[in-house]
Amino acid sequence: MTMSSRKKVVILGGGVAGMSAAHELIERGFQVQVFERKPIAGGKARSLKAGAGGGLVSGPARPTLATRSSGPPLPGEHGFRFFPGFYRHIIDTMARIPYGTGNVAQNLVDTRELMIASFDRAPYLLPSESPRSADDVRLFLLGALRVLSGRVGVSTEDTAFFAAKLWEFLTSCEERRLVELERINWWDFIEAGSRSAAYQKFYGNGITRSLVAAKARRASSKTIGDIFLQILFDIPTPDVAADRVLNGPTNDVWIDPWLKYLQQRGVDYCFDAEVRSLRCRNGRVLGATISVGGRSREVTGDYFISALPVERMTALLSAELVALDPSLGALHELTEYVEWMNGIQFYLTEDVRLAEGHTIYIDSPWALTSISQPQFWGSFDVSRYADGAVKGLLSVDISDWDVKGLNGKEARHCSRSEIAAETWAQLKRSLNADYERLRDDQLHSWFLDPGIDDEDADADESTPRVVTNAEPLLVNYVDTWRIRPEAVTRIPNFFLASDYVRTFTDLATMEAANEAARRAVNGVLRAARTSHEPCQVWNLHEPELFAPLRAYDRVRYRKGLGWGGELALPLSAFSAAHGALAALPLFDKALTAAHALVPDLALTAPQANQDAEEAAAEARASSDTGLRRLRIVESAP
Ligand SMILES: Cc1cc2nc3c(=O)[nH]c(=O)nc-3n(C[C@H](O)[C@H](O)[C@H](O)COP(=O)(O)OP(=O)(O)OC[C@H]3O[C@@H](n4cnc5c(N)ncnc54)[C@H](O)[C@@H]3O)c2cc1C
Repeated sequence: MTMSSRKKVVILGGGVAGMSAAHELIERGFQVQVFERKPIAGGKARSLKAGAGGGLVSGPARPTLATRSSGPPLPGEHGFRFFPGFYRHIIDTMARIPYGTGNVAQNLVDTRELMIASFDRAPYLLPSESPRSADDVRLFLLGALRVLSGRVGVSTEDTAFFAAKLWEFLTSCEERRLVELERINWWDFIEAGSRSAAYQKFYGNGITRSLVAAKARRASSKTIGDIFLQILFDIPTPDVAADRVLNGPTNDVWIDPWLKYLQQRGVDYCFDAEVRSLRCRNGRVLGATISVGGRSREVTGDYFISALPVERMTALLSAELVALDPSLGALHELTEYVEWMNGIQFYLTEDVRLAEGHTIYIDSPWALTSISQPQFWGSFDVSRYADGAVKGLLSVDISDWDVKGLNGKEARHCSRSEIAAETWAQLKRSLNADYERLRDDQLHSWFLDPGIDDEDADADESTPRVVTNAEPLLVNYVDTWRIRPEAVTRIPNFFLASDYVRTFTDLATMEAANEAARRAVNGVLRAARTSHEPCQVWNLHEPELFAPLRAYDRVRYRKGLGWGGELALPLSAFSAAHGALAALPLFDKALTAAHALVPDLALTAPQANQDAEEAAAEARASSDTGLRRLRIVESAP
């Protein structure tokens, strides 16, 4: 096929979504051009050079605590990267990016533990992978015992109550989750308001703050429940670590090799190229105006994929575009649900490891999470950077910019150096409850995401400071599924691929960005009527053991009934569905266990038995084996 006969796809934005779309398209023979407004690829996932060209500076030349540097600039990042075990889309793509003699997915390393740090008690560790050695078994049992015995501060009664709420979620059918639970926030779903302060801290805020800037009182319980279960099920699953990280700075071990691969395959990736507007004619997108170095030009193509974050895409919406697909108008509302979440890195003169994995600072006002990176970085020796004095790197995400810190100020109203000082103070307060893990004399320097700008840093103290954030992040808040768009729009040559698009993943992450890109590319393939294999898209997976119970709840849901409530009632579905599902591994064991728990499993209530019979028929018809049934309807181009 000649270059001129190949269909051309213009991709707006070169983050994970844009690069994923480019990857799928170039491998299917399309001509691909990517326009990215920054001089660096990877979007929010990128890592950066902290202080290129001299002392440690970030963004507009602004000195931090470091003063001199002779080696290459230290690695910094917009925010640290975490790849939960349930990710499939992004991992599949990474496995197709060459790296040395292998591929980029091989640069992922498992973490082993999760540290929970709080102001008033010694930090403790929970396991993040299934036991593989005697020591792991010890950690696993210790973690479980700690939670069950109330030593983490939550009573056994609270933990039992939370387990019952999780059971309710787990045995709710997908339709109920999407319609009913999507409209309840996590806080209300787990009934945190009527429980102890410890319950609120641990199961309310603790769980949500580890999931990209979500807040318990606003986050959709459908999203939090779905994702929390995925992570929970990964923990005891052999060969799957619930939490993986890269073995070096993100651009070194992933984004740069990816960019190189795409360019070698023929993708034209244009840097410093900002999309300013979209032009339509005859019901299609005709071209995009791109500004490069202050000069504008129009770019045309057969298909356009917008891989811009929601607030940037919304800024490009014209009345014409909305008239062509009215659902795009909802992006104006969706843009109200972006929050701030940004990283700060503390460079240390000692490698302070804390945990072999992430740390959640459970009551830190600014919702901090962190990871000590060098322990995972194999061949990347941080002491080769800058002045050679750096041995440790604690990368921290700040997820709440609206709550007053120990200094009495919200992060949003602090200067860059106040943000660094206050974050450091919150870390020390959380980590040093029993002994001093983090000390001032270990601090070499810090680097704050350059997207955070305190333009009026010199304003007098009485004026509230205005800090801006160039890259906010969509958060999956209550009842926002309804206003999120499909990847395939009603405009026949225009598609959306970013973390806010409707996906099975349904949490604004790299995984969702990649899945959205696959959906957009599948839309292009259909529109172009090609015979290429579509990109694979995976649904979330929950253990098949619970499939009969979801089938039972589906029957109730369709009848307009609420969730079954008591344990015995849904268990009857096991019994009735047995014939249909006996072939499933684990099922027999589960049934035996259920009978042992509830000897009179054959229920007497006629309605319950009837529902269970219907659930069995439903399970037979759907052959639901743990794959969730939720479908995302894409309108045909
Ligand atoms: C601090 C932080 C930590 C996170 N940690 C994780 C994590 O551990 N794991 C995880 O899975 N997810 C994580 N996420 C979420 C994840 O980073 C994002 O969901 C994902 O990277 C979004 O990718 P994207 O391509 O959709 O958007 P983006 O990354 O925002 O990419 C969009 C691109 O478009 C460019 N652009 C914007 N406007 C224009 C324009 N007008 N013209 C041209 N280009 C433009 C931008 O510069 C950017 O490169 C984190 C997010 C944050 C903020």
